[in-house]
Amino acid sequence: MSLISPNAPTAELQALDAAHHMHPFTHGADLAQKGARVITRASGVWLTDSEGERILDGMAGLWCVNIGYGRKELAAAAARQMEELPYYNTFFQTTHVPAIQLSARLAELAPGDLNHVFYASSGSEANDTNIRLVRTYWAEKGQPERQTIISRWNGYHGSSLGSMSLGGMKGMHAQGGAVPGIHHIDQPHWWAEGGDMSPEEFGLERARQLEQAIEEIGPEKVGAFIAEPIQGAGGVIVPPATYWPEIQRIVKKYGILLIADEVICGFGRTGNWFGSQTMGITPDIMTIAKGLSSGYQPIGGSLLSDEVANVISGTEFNHGYTYSGHPVACAVALENLRILDEEGIVARVAQETGPYLREKWQALADHPLVGEAQIEGFMGSIALTPDKSARAAFASDAGTVGYICRERCFANNLVMRHVGDRMIISPPLVLSFDEIDTLIERAVKSLDECHARLK
Ligand code: PLP
Repeated sequence: MSLISPNAPTAELQALDAAHHMHPFTHGADLAQKGARVITRASGVWLTDSEGERILDGMAGLWCVNIGYGRKELAAAAARQMEELPYYNTFFQTTHVPAIQLSARLAELAPGDLNHVFYASSGSEANDTNIRLVRTYWAEKGQPERQTIISRWNGYHGSSLGSMSLGGMKGMHAQGGAVPGIHHIDQPHWWAEGGDMSPEEFGLERARQLEQAIEEIGPEKVGAFIAEPIQGAGGVIVPPATYWPEIQRIVKKYGILLIADEVICGFGRTGNWFGSQTMGITPDIMTIAKGLSSGYQPIGGSLLSDEVANVISGTEFNHGYTYSGHPVACAVALENLRILDEEGIVARVAQETGPYLREKWQALADHPLVGEAQIEGFMGSIALTPDKSARAAFASDAGTVGYICRERCFANNLVMRHVGDRMIISPPLVLSFDEIDTLIERAVKSLDECHARLK
C-alpha cells in the first residue's frame, strides 16, 4: 500500500483528490480546475490549510462545530469508549450505557415533554425517520390517510431521498425527483418576497399559506408540518415576529404534528438550547444533529413528545440504522453537552458575545452593497443588492456576486458561505470578542473588494 504523504505539495494532494474523491455539492469541472483547499488541522475557531494559512471559520465547519475545534476531552471520551465498547447495536432489546445516559440528558435539556429520542447518524437520516414516524403515528391512531407532510420551498432538511423531498431546494428536486406525499408552501422571507406588505403582515400571510394548503389537501389527509425555526441553508432567514405564533395556532387548530428541524438551530446556536425556545414554539418532534456532538462524531436523532412516543411504542416500529445510538458517538455527544453546559457557552451567546456580534453584524447594513442584515444568536446573513432602497436582486446570474464575495472572503482567510447573493455566517459558539472584530474586519474588506469588482 502506498499512501500519499500528508506533507506532499498541495498541488499533488489536490490532483489526487480531484481524481478519486467525489465532493458533495461541488461542480466536478471546478474541482479539477481549481483544486480544493486542503484543510490540515484546526484549533478553536481557526483552520490551518496545507499552505500553512490560518483561516477564521465563520461557518463552524458546516454549522456544527459549536464548541470549537481541538477539544481533547472529546478525543479522550471517544478513545475511552472505543476501548470499553466500540460498537454495539440498540436493536432487539439491547442497549448500552452511553445511549442510556445521552437519552436521559437530552430529555432534561429538551423543552416540554420531548422526552424520547430515536437515534440516527445524521440530520438527513433523522428526517427520513420523521417521515416514517409521522405516518406510523397516524396509522396507529386509526387515521392512516393522514400521509401528507407540509414543508417549505427553500427549506433544507437533508440530502437522502426522503429528507431532500421534505426540503424545498428546487435544484435538488430536479436531480432525480422527490417522493410523493410532500407539499411545499412559500418561505417567510420578507426582504426578498414581501413586496409592499409590512413584515408583520407578510409573516401572517405566509403562515396562512399553511392553513390554505391544509384546507386544499383536506385536513383529514395532513399529518405534519416541518420547518426550521430559522432557515439555515436557505440563507439564514429569520421570519417576521408574526410568523411562528400563527403557524402554532394553525397546527393546533387542525391537530397536525409540528416538527421543528433543529439540526442547525439546536445546541445553543440561537442563544437558547433550541431554536424552538427562541421562536416560542412547542414542537411534537425535533430533528437534532450537528451541534449535538459539535461535529466530532456523526450523530443525529428525532426527539419525540410523550404522546408521539406512547403511540409509536404501541407497535413495533420497523425502522432503525446500524449506527442508531452508536456508543462512541453517544459518549462524544455527552461530553460535548457537558462542555456546552458547564462552560456556560450557550448563556454567553445569549448575553455576551451574541449581542456584541449582533451589533457589529447589523452595522454591515450600512455598506453600499448590503441590503438587509439579519442575525439571531450566532447565525447571521446579509443580502447583497444593487439597490438597497428597492430591496432589489442582481438582475442576471443570481449567485455570481455572492460567489465573488465568497472568493474574496476566502482570499482574506475568512470562511463565509454564499447562498445565491446572500452571505451567511454560523461561527463556533466560542468565538471571542476579539475574533468577532477580526471576522467583521475581514467581512468588510471582502465586501469592499467585491463592490470594487462590480464597478
Ligand atoms: N436539517 C437541516 C436544517 C440542515 O441544515 C441539515 C444539514 O445542513 C440537515 C437537516 C441534514 O443534516 P445532515 O447533513 O447531517 O444529513
